[in-house]
Amino acid sequence: MSALTELYEEIALCRQCEIAKSRNKAVPGEGAENADLLFIGEAPGWHEDQQGLPFVGPAGKYLDELLASINLNRQQVYIANVIKCRPPTNRDPLPAEIANCRKWLQCQIGLIHPKIIVTLGRYSMAMFFPGKSISKIHGTAQKRDNILYYAMYHPAAALHQQSLRQAIDADMLKIPSLLAQIESVPEAKPEAKQLKMFEV
Ligand code: URA
Repeated sequence: MSALTELYEEIALCRQCEIAKSRNKAVPGEGAENADLLFIGEAPGWHEDQQGLPFVGPAGKYLDELLASINLNRQQVYIANVIKCRPPTNRDPLPAEIANCRKWLQCQIGLIHPKIIVTLGRYSMAMFFPGKSISKIHGTAQKRDNILYYAMYHPAAALHQQSLRQAIDADMLKIPSLLAQIESVPEAKPEAKQLKMFEV
């Protein structure tokens, strides 16, 4: 059993938050254990909670299309969420839930060792780009400790707001060139870590 699979078992046993009581299945994540690209969404929705898999509802269908636009499929990347249990009525994740779940994501990052972490939406962005605004930094990246962090809107945003679709499509299309030039992207200077973004 891989370390990542062992982690799934631990996640499935986690009862740290109240929402563990109402979940049908925990949704640890899915994909290649050595993926170059790690996509991090917000939280499981109804479909994900039923299947125990991330992004399998309407937003997931669009994420699959986005991946196909760069000739990838979900088996070639890794997809996870900030929190692993569905918040009832799909409410936003609470700060305590995000804090409790953070360790799982950190383990996943350590085990997968991705080259690029793509944050999908505000909650995921806030973990890696605290204080930033998604409308300002989407489509830009920052390298820290040899991982490139790249912010995108959440795919579900395009389902609610058609005007964002172009931006999401365009931001996805930048990923292959980011991956290709990753070695030459400079590390963010310590004092600039929260300020300077890499324009693609
Ligand atoms: N939205 C997310 O953020 N994650 C999922 O897994 C599904 C929808």
